[in-house]
Amino acid sequence: MKIKSNYPINEEAFSNLQKLSEEYEIIDSIEIQENDSNNKRVLKGTKEKECRFCKKQFPEVKFKNVSHTIPEFLGNKNLTSDFECDNCNKYFSAFENELANLLLPLNTLSSTKNKKNKTPKFKNKLEIHQDDKNVFHITNFPDDLINSKKEINFIIETASYIPEYVYRSLIKIGLSIINEEIIKNYNETIEWLMSLEQNVIIRPCLAFTIFPFNSPTDKIRCAIFDRKLNVTRQIPKTLLILSYKNFAIQTFFPVFPFEGFTELSPFPHVIPTALDLNNNLKNKKEYGLIYLDKNIRVKGEKIEVNIRSVEE
Ligand SMILES: [Zn+2]
Repeated sequence: MKIKSNYPINEEAFSNLQKLSEEYEIIDSIEIQENDSNNKRVLKGTKEKECRFCKKQFPEVKFKNVSHTIPEFLGNKNLTSDFECDNCNKYFSAFENELANLLLPLNTLSSTKNKKNKTPKFKNKLEIHQDDKNVFHITNFPDDLINSKKEINFIIETASYIPEYVYRSLIKIGLSIINEEIIKNYNETIEWLMSLEQNVIIRPCLAFTIFPFNSPTDKIRCAIFDRKLNVTRQIPKTLLILSYKNFAIQTFFPVFPFEGFTELSPFPHVIPTALDLNNNLKNKKEYGLIYLDKNIRVKGEKIEVNIRSVEE
């Protein structure tokens, strides 16, 4: 594997990459320039106007809507697909909305541009918005915050979201970037996505990494890894990593009863991203684990935010 980087390679990331490649191989990956609406790309199915998800064809289903492979609120303005029918597009938008809710405060703080090409406004006791000069304005600031000239810490509550839908929206992104030749190997995953009833045996969750806010990436990347055939360790068949701005989200495709696992480690490897390859990470990364098995709305989860002045 060749890694191109302008930075000195971070040893830890390199070692993680080596360990990962012993048990997994990359199946597909995409890289999108953030907020680039000029270089439009369309991922195509083999049969024209056949839906990858519900398998129906035109004219039984329509293909009028533009289907973004990665949601627009993550900064994807140019990568779409032609194999998602309007019915499925509508069905998936319910999942996407929940991912948007979960990420809203972070997308505000990292100025990720939404569908309207604006930084989303976050309002939940604290109100955060960004003006045209890239200055953040925070109103309703509580008095009891730790407040110094160089650093502020505060806790924000997330907008309410349905955890299981967040999981489904991530798996849908994964299924959208897998190329047409091998998508047939993921039929069970597609069936699971299309039915809200089907059970999985491993509790869905995601691992979240927040990198320092002063060194964001302007690329949105997603990659899918499959377990190599000779691997006997009880680890998920498919892993997904999504990164944008200062964030990386890692999860795994659903694990079904027929796979015969008794116990399984859902995060067998830390998948390094381009953000990890930067050796100049002066501030440490923050990690979090979010469980995504509940299919009821949860609200008021707390995120601790720390904003530091960039000058040394
Ligand atoms: Zn469809």
